[in-house]
Amino acid sequence: MVKNLVRRDIREFDPYKTNQIPYKIKLDANESPFDLPEKIRQKVVDFFLKGPELNLYPDTESTELRKILASYWKVDSDNIVVGTGSDQLIQVIINVFVEKGDKVICPMPSFGMYKINTIIGGGTPVEVPLKREEDFEYDIDLFIETAKKEKAKVVFLCTPNNPTGGSIPKADIERIVKECPNTVIVVDEAYAEFSKESSVDLIFKYDNLIILRTFSKAYGLAGIRCGYSLSCIEMAEELSKVKPPYNISSLSQYIAILTFKEREIIDKQVEYLIEQREYLMRELKKIDKIHVYPSQANFICFEVPDASLVHKKLEAKGILVRSFGNAPVLGNCIRISVGSKEQNDILLKELSECLK
Ligand code: PMP
Repeated sequence: MVKNLVRRDIREFDPYKTNQIPYKIKLDANESPFDLPEKIRQKVVDFFLKGPELNLYPDTESTELRKILASYWKVDSDNIVVGTGSDQLIQVIINVFVEKGDKVICPMPSFGMYKINTIIGGGTPVEVPLKREEDFEYDIDLFIETAKKEKAKVVFLCTPNNPTGGSIPKADIERIVKECPNTVIVVDEAYAEFSKESSVDLIFKYDNLIILRTFSKAYGLAGIRCGYSLSCIEMAEELSKVKPPYNISSLSQYIAILTFKEREIIDKQVEYLIEQREYLMRELKKIDKIHVYPSQANFICFEVPDASLVHKKLEAKGILVRSFGNAPVLGNCIRISVGSKEQNDILLKELSECLK
């Protein structure tokens, strides 16, 4: 009965799936292995004991958080909109710009929520493939050509790209933004702390550009659900109109502010994870039967002869990784988050065993 009432496009809809099984080592969701640093944790406890007035709604504009982010990025607070994770901002962008049947360009493979939110919002995703034989590089000409041909309302770009790991050169991003002035170009920089490249400064040059950042990855705060966009002020005002009120809880705002102020700790963690990424890349390449794709992120994508089998064997040992089984373009690829040295060594050992 319910099924008959549901929108036709949602009936056949394939939702975002996550793993909820017991594990020893979790390397399947590009999370940080570092939980909240002790110094910050203690301040959160103090804040809680003083009474955060949880009976009151939080600041709907995340004023304080936007202020410190603005001073870091050398922009105005009004250039920034804060979302319940960057996930929410992807949804907000679709709601602001996409009407029924409008085309949205989604890289393929990339983060699944671009396509999912497009469908939920009534738009039509147009997938532009990345070339596996060229390390999943973005074909910039193809993106521009498709955006123009389809009169796309929105183009999503992800750099470094999840799940493949490679970055898009900034000059290429600028070319797309410049050559598609009637399309909103969203550059998802969820993992950019690990590539140390950003296009944020381009928001002063182009009004059709939105950059997305998150506290979920480098900042190790996936649990507080907090991300933000940077764009020209006019664009930010439109996004703010649609953003749900009170979308960031008082505690999340407080933890995000504290952690951002203690960025030195985070910077050290990022350096550690970059070193571990390079270590893992080197060691993975030594294992027979594995082809490793380049990564500038906190995760690595590689190919094995039978990804579903390797996934199953690792899972049986309590190690969670993301397998793309026989997915289009990504067939037999596995993606692992870069963990602590100890976690990475266990993974390397068990993976070699699985492939013997
Ligand atoms: N963008 C990309 C590329 C991601 O991989 C993710 C999370 N996996 C997100 C955005 C969403 O992040 P969050 O909602 O936690 O900010």
